[in-house]
Amino acid sequence: MANYLHCNACYFRPGMGIQRRFFITNCSHIYCETCVTAATKDKCKICKSQCSTLCLSGKIPKEVESMFVDPVESIQKFLKEFCQKLEFQRSHQRRLMRHMTEQLKCAEKKMSEVNKMIQRAQQLERSFTALQHRPGGGTNIPSQTGRLLIRTPPSGGRLGELF
Ligand SMILES: [Zn+2]
Ligand SMILES: [Zn+2]
Repeated sequence: MANYLHCNACYFRPGMGIQRRFFITNCSHIYCETCVTAATKDKCKICKSQCSTLCLSGKIPKEVESMFVDPVESIQKFLKEFCQKLEFQRSHQRRLMRHMTEQLKCAEKKMSEVNKMIQRAQQLERSFTALQHRPGGGTNIPSQTGRLLIRTPPSGGRLGELF
């Protein structure tokens, strides 16, 4: 039993040589078995309210039992559970973030490749336009290995038929 436990009437405490049972009232006062009857006969001796009593030696409801739990132990237990829940949720958040970051990197890499292809296409279009504006350009450009043969002029800013 807790070291603060004492009879609110005679100040008897557990371990004082003799064994006495303790009773708690519904107004939260505690009396030893010697005092309980007189201290709660009409009204509680301390707070003067009508009260009922419960013997602390028998089976007691959880809400009464919880009143005797060390608050430091309670908060330690709470903190332990709090940390477990926090770590559980954070580990899942981290995993999802890693996955999303990887996907973002992948998308950025693909975007970079697409941009390079667009730049290359623009370069080709500029080369094509330049060739077209040369004297005699645009038709029958001599075909060489690895070069483009341009058969039709570009229309609407798009490349013509290439093969
Ligand atoms: Zn007492
Ligand atoms: Zn009372």
